[in-house]
Amino acid sequence: MFSRSTLCLKTSASSIGRLQLRYFSHLPMTVPIKLPNGLEYEQPTGLFINNKFVPSKQNKTFEVVNPSTEEEICHIYEGREDDVEEAVQAADRAFSNGSWNGIDPINRGKALYRLAELIEQDKDVIASIETLDNGKAISSSRGDVELVINYLKSSAGFADKIDGRMVDTGRTHFSYTKRQPLGVCGQIIPWNFPLLMWAWKIAPALVTGNTVVLKTAESTPLSALYVSKYIPQAGIPPGVINIVSGFGKIVGEAITNHPKIKKVAFTGSTATGRHIYQSAAAGLKKVTLELGGKSPNIVFADAELKKAVQNIILGIYYNSGEVCCAGSRVYVEESIYDKFIEEFKAASESIKVGDPFDESTFQGAQTSQMQLNKILKYVDIGKSEGATLITGGERLGSKGYFIKPTVFGDVKEDMRIVKEEIFGPVVTVTKFKSTDEVINMANDSEYGLAAGIHTSNINTALKVADRVNAGTVWINTYNDFHHAVPFGGFNASGLGREMSVDALQNYLQVKAVRAKLDE
Ligand code: NAP
Ligand code: MG
Repeated sequence: MFSRSTLCLKTSASSIGRLQLRYFSHLPMTVPIKLPNGLEYEQPTGLFINNKFVPSKQNKTFEVVNPSTEEEICHIYEGREDDVEEAVQAADRAFSNGSWNGIDPINRGKALYRLAELIEQDKDVIASIETLDNGKAISSSRGDVELVINYLKSSAGFADKIDGRMVDTGRTHFSYTKRQPLGVCGQIIPWNFPLLMWAWKIAPALVTGNTVVLKTAESTPLSALYVSKYIPQAGIPPGVINIVSGFGKIVGEAITNHPKIKKVAFTGSTATGRHIYQSAAAGLKKVTLELGGKSPNIVFADAELKKAVQNIILGIYYNSGEVCCAGSRVYVEESIYDKFIEEFKAASESIKVGDPFDESTFQGAQTSQMQLNKILKYVDIGKSEGATLITGGERLGSKGYFIKPTVFGDVKEDMRIVKEEIFGPVVTVTKFKSTDEVINMANDSEYGLAAGIHTSNINTALKVADRVNAGTVWINTYNDFHHAVPFGGFNASGLGREMSVDALQNYLQVKAVRAKLDE
């Protein structure tokens, strides 16, 4: 069907263990994919620039791997600096010609809403693509796609509600402010929630009149490419959304450093976020960052134990633990510690891990071999630090990147498994005696993304919520997202907020206009 001329190199971020193949080749612009659940679809392989799928300029391609089987799904085109250049030029033209930011804003809202409806009509295929590419349980993918649809629809409603102020400066002048878009925005997303992160990035940028160049993660590029086919149908003009698949060191760097890009929005590791922040500073670009976490999940003795255990399970094993706000440090009040451990161990061992297309699976595959290796390395670190492995701690099977739900007890607060983000189904449990003690332990972290509080006492809940350093606090629930509730981190967990009205200000700047009136 297509020719692969040269095998150029075989390394990439996710290649430790299984080699990810990269070629120079000519691919068909779509390839037929049969999904394990019987659905079939055509996967676009090109970059998406100017409302068209195009090959990369150098005809470079890379392999996309199914993490549950370690088998190849397909190859897609790999963007490079010259492709970023073309995408930025397209986005810049779309911004300058007024085809998007110059129209009646309600029409931007209508287009975004139509995009949401087109996604909704095709949500079974889209959720399945996410599970195929990322390895997450199909129930999680369905939840992600619902959040995507709701968020796009909700954002659409903001389009015609972006206003300024009339400033009274007396009769000699007329003064007002207007909030205007920034221009071309660069957006770099991770692999743990591929389409949801795409939505969190593009919706606030588009509704406020900006245009975007977005890089998907190299291990999960398929869903954002697939939904791009709906962008022209939704009535979004050419150049408004451009997707350049590829690698962080090439496409990501080119986006971050491009002089025409006015703002960079990034979700991923704190290390890469720091690097992007520094690079963007040279160009004085605006930056928003959604970074890592090591979120505390606190269980007080008066919590309803069964519910608390279920919430802790959801907090750490949901999305195979590959969640920036995973409740990976659990703190349990001393008087219920033994009972909690007994129930939590049993619940962890009863979790269905495996084939993510099985409707009853809760925990699917880790997304890449690199991630699997990283998590298993942390299990070894935990053991060598002297923590007690209560359950799990090993790979499940030999094909596919599955890990048993893993619990460590008898941890000390300075252990690396308590301090560092593992990004997998691995949790530590610590005993506490008093509220002050647990707040000190919870806040003793460079991060501050989320926190969970489990108690039947409203006073405890609200007082602890106030004192814990976290951008999101969940009370008697966890990983409980809503499109209208903002999300983002304190401290090393990031800058800026996503979702809700809060996300819009990342994409707007104030213009003050002052006119002198005739005497
Ligand atoms: P990462 O390096 O932060 O990757 C996130 C995104 O940034 C990907 O699209 C990546 O491209 C891109 N990128 C990488 N280097 C870049 C650079 N120099 N300039 C611009 N963009 C760049 O994360 P990772 O390596 O995939 O995962 C490492 C760890 O990060 C995980 O184990 C986890 O702890 C954490 N993480 C956190 C989140 C979160 O939601 N907070 C998400 C993912 C990972 P590639 O496609 O080349 O990777
Ligand atoms: Mg990576």
